[in-house]
Amino acid sequence: MPLSDEAQDQIIDRLRAKRSEPDNCPICGSDTFSVADLLFNTPMAEGIVQTVAMPMYATHILVTCTNCGLTHMINANVLGIMDILLEDGVARGLIPPPMEATIRADLELRAARLEEAESEAG
Ligand SMILES: [Zn+2]
Repeated sequence: MPLSDEAQDQIIDRLRAKRSEPDNCPICGSDTFSVADLLFNTPMAEGIVQTVAMPMYATHILVTCTNCGLTHMINANVLGIMDILLEDGVARGLIPPPMEATIRADLELRAARLEEAESEAG
């Protein structure tokens, strides 16, 4: 799914909120990065069985140093930007309503699992 310029800016802001200092590129020292306007869905499986009817994917964004090209693949769920991706896709008609409902249900499930795991961890 292509991303709007606005969504890319919001993603960079979220990333900057989590960075440590200094956060320059480890290869060339540049401090300028861009977010690719595409998402990458990496197939996942629980255990060794992947069902065909309900495939699972981890959504990633690519952040690239604009000077040397070093590219980081960042998990969108861990970074916490799925809300941005969803709003951007719905606003631009890239995500039809049935898919929106499925994605929102998945996000709620993931949030509930995370909350459960955090409460078990103490
Ligand atoms: Zn670089």
